This record gives sequence, structure tokens and C-alpha cells, in this order.
Amino acid sequence: MTTIEYPQLYIGGDWTAPTGSDRIEVRCAANEDRIGSVPRASRVDIDAAVGSARSAFDDPDGWSTWEPKERAEVLERFATELEARGEETARRVSMQNGMPIWMAQQFEAGFPALLLRYYSDLMTSAAVEETRPGMLGGTTLVSRQPVGVVAAIVPWNVPQGISFLKLGPALAAGCTVVLKPAEETVLDAFLMAEAAAAAGLPEGVLNIVPGGRDIGEYLVEHPGIDKVSFTGSTIAGRWIAEACGRLLRPVTLELGGKSAAIILDDADLAGCLEQFFAATMLNNGQVCYLSTRVLAPRNRYNEIVDTITDLVRTLKIGDPLDPETKIGPLVSARQRERVEGYIAKGQSEGARMTTGGSRPKGFDRGWFLEPTVFADLDNNATVSREEIFGPVLSVIPYTDEREAISIANDSDYGLGGTVWSADADRAVKVARRVRSGTVGVNHYLNDPVAPFGGIKQSGIGRELGPEGLHPFQVFKTVYLPPPAG
Ligand code: NAD
Repeated sequence: MTTIEYPQLYIGGDWTAPTGSDRIEVRCAANEDRIGSVPRASRVDIDAAVGSARSAFDDPDGWSTWEPKERAEVLERFATELEARGEETARRVSMQNGMPIWMAQQFEAGFPALLLRYYSDLMTSAAVEETRPGMLGGTTLVSRQPVGVVAAIVPWNVPQGISFLKLGPALAAGCTVVLKPAEETVLDAFLMAEAAAAAGLPEGVLNIVPGGRDIGEYLVEHPGIDKVSFTGSTIAGRWIAEACGRLLRPVTLELGGKSAAIILDDADLAGCLEQFFAATMLNNGQVCYLSTRVLAPRNRYNEIVDTITDLVRTLKIGDPLDPETKIGPLVSARQRERVEGYIAKGQSEGARMTTGGSRPKGFDRGWFLEPTVFADLDNNATVSREEIFGPVLSVIPYTDEREAISIANDSDYGLGGTVWSADADRAVKVARRVRSGTVGVNHYLNDPVAPFGGIKQSGIGRELGPEGLHPFQVFKTVYLPPPAG
């Protein structure tokens, strides 16, 4: 197979030679073969990217000063170019991080263009400026202006979808962006750069700098940055929050989760297994909002454990490029070892493993791991408290609704969650009492129109919806001249 090799970086609206010679090598999660490489951005490259984004933003006739409609025209071309590369984007993401292709086609090929259009529409349909009659005799002009140069730092698990949660609103609002993809998923980011170049995004409006944590830290603290938008682990988020606190730099943090699926005693779980799978094990368990703590009523506990065990046991494990595959490999050897460590911990703490726990037979290459279910454990078990980021569920018993809500809320995190019931009103009542940024009833799906984000250690701020646009805007007040006389 020919590998995908990029000799240059996308900085300042063009392909430019990197200043260093280091490269980021990418391996296929399903067979460990080398599939391509890109230049690793150095600090000098970051300086160039931030400098270019800064000049583009500060240009008195540039992107930030255009009418929303003018930006929307360019973003429409960007959306079209992304769609033209959608199949290849999905394929690259699947190969890099193991995401089943049907999911990559939806989240990675389709979502970016949808988000660009959604935020362009929002910007063109809502006034960014209003005149307010004052209380003290004068008139005031209140406007929303773009916040400035944005550092967008994203993880590998849903690399395109998550990038556009930031790029959609930031670009539509008139910001310029330096995007740092994760090292594991740089090949799809460079396809995005190809789309941006083909769409004719003005110089410096989008810059892509691949690298690891050191480059991420350098970018966060760079003096040319006005706003940081980060998605990733809570541990990295804490460091970034501290740095931004010191710099008084606005920051949005989308971090980890350990969400709960509350199965009420009237739920027909067997009747909604597809939705339950999507809410608990999507992307091989590598999604931040998944409901990985399953809370089951004691009077139906054994039956629910059996239903979930049967579901998980029959999930087709395989090549993520095969449309039939439900569970692909994990992103890396390191990630698989981390998840295996949690499985060992679950067993050593006395939980009963009802299925999974091993590397599947017949997969000698690739970072495959069987989806795993733990029963007969409580909410204090390590596997019930810590984010595993792999296909591992804990099924925890509860006595009544009150206790279920209390267990759901007994977590350091508060990002997602689900409630399962035959009675939608009852489920919504329970959903209201779950301390979390988002909760789904009998399914879980992030709709672009509604804010998504977490509380507690799951983060600060919101993405999606009009609420996801506001962090990229600042209010500006102009007190108009007083009436004559
Ligand atoms: P990670 O925090 O290790 O890395 C995420 C990104 O941040 C990468 O680009 C990485 O290079 C960079 N980075 C790491 N440390 C940094 C630092 N100190 N300063 C600046 N940049 C830094 O996370 P990961 O392992 O790639 O992703 C998995 C984590 O992301 C999980 O905890 C998951 O829950 C979380 N996540 C959250 C959401 C959400 O919306 N809340 C979505 C997806 C993933």
C-alpha cells in the first residue's frame, strides 16, 4: 500500500517548508502498518502560524472585519471542499484511530460541513449589533466582535467532528485559528488543510500545526493567542486552565467523563439495544460522553446484566473499514495497555466479569480488545469512578429512583448521561435531576442546535448551539454622542 506523505505544513494559507526535520509517523490501528507521516511543527513553526493568524486578524480590511455574509461565502466553499474529501477523511480517521467506518462517515465526513453551515447561518441571521435607548438620556451601541486569534487543541478520538465544534463558530464569528491536532490523527487534519487551500480561505485564517503536548503548551501560552479552546483529558485541561488563569486568557475546556445510564424499572432495554450500544460503547468506548456506568434496579439486576452481556458478546469485532464492524481496535498500543490495566484492576477488586477482558482470538496484529462488562460492583470500584476510555461497562445495582440519581451524581465528572424508561415524562423528570451538562432519554445524540459540555471535572464552557458561538465573541459597547443641547 502506498503511504500518505506530506512534505510541508499548512501555515499562512499556503504549504510551507517546516523549519525542523522531525516527522510524525502514523500507524494503522487495525494492523500496525505505517500509513503515512507529516512534519512535526517546531516552536518556530508555531511562531509563524500564530504570527500569520495574528496579521490576518489585525488586518483592518481582513477576515475579522468582513460582513458575516462574505465569510459565509468562503465557508460554504470550505464545506463543499470538505464534502468532496468526505470518503477519504472517513477512511483516514478509521485507519488511524480504529473508528468503525459507518461512524466515521457520519461524524467525521458529514459533521464538519454541517457545522460550518450552521454557524454561518447563525451569524448571518442574527444581528451582531444593536442600538439601545439608554436610561440616562443617551443611546448605546452594543455589538459582538470576534474574540481574536484562537488556539484550538483537539484529541484523536473524533478528530474532525471535534475540530469543527471549534472551527465552525470561530471562523463564522471572524476569528482566525491555529489548530493543533493530536499526533495520532494528523492525516485527516492535512486533508482538511487541502480543503481549506482549495476553498481559498484567506491567508492566515486557518493554520494547522501538528505536534504533541510540548507544542500544545507552547501554543497555549503564546503571546499572540487571545483565546484557547481545548478538548482532551482532564489532566491536560487542568494545566491549560492554570496557564490561562495566570495569563487571564479566556478558555473553553471539554474534558473527560464517567457518565451514568439510569435504567428505570419499566425500561424495555431489549427493545432499544442499538441506541443503548451507541450511548455506551460507540467508537470502541473512546468517546467522552458515553454512559459507562450502567445503573440497574435490583429487582431486574440479573436480567439486565444478561441482556447487556448478550449484546456485548455479539458485537462484531473487526477491521474498522468493514461496514459490518461494531468494535474496531483501540487507537494505540498504549491505550490498549491502559484499558487492560483497568480490566485487571476491576478483577482484583472483586468485580465479576461477565464477558470480554482479553485480546480477541484471530487478531494477531492491531490494538484490538474485547468489549468487557463488569457486574456485582458498586460505584466506589476504580472502574466505576475513573474514565477508562475503552469498551468497558460497570453494571451497578440500585434500590430506588432516589438512590439511582444519587449514584449517578456521585462522580467527579458531569458530561453526559442517559435515562431509559417506557415512560418519557418520568425519564425526563429523572434527567432533570442528573448533575451533568447533557442527558439523553432512551438514546444519546449531540444535536448541533443544543449546547454540549460538562460540569465539575468535565470542563468549563459549552460548544454547539448559539451558546457555542458566544465564547468566540466579545461584547463591545460604544456610548453614542449625547443629544444636542
Ligand atoms: P490529551 O489531553 O492527552 O490530548 C488532547 C490534545 O491535547 C492532544 O492534541 C494533545 O497533544 C494535547 N495536549 C496534551 N497535553 C497538553 C498540554 N498540557 N497543553 C496543551 N496541549 C496538550 O487527551 P487524549 O488522550 O488525546 O484524548 C482523550 C481524552 O479527551 C479523554 O479524557 C476524553 O474524555 C477527552 N475528550 C473530551 C471530549 C469532550 O468534548 N468533553 C471529547 C473528546 C475527548
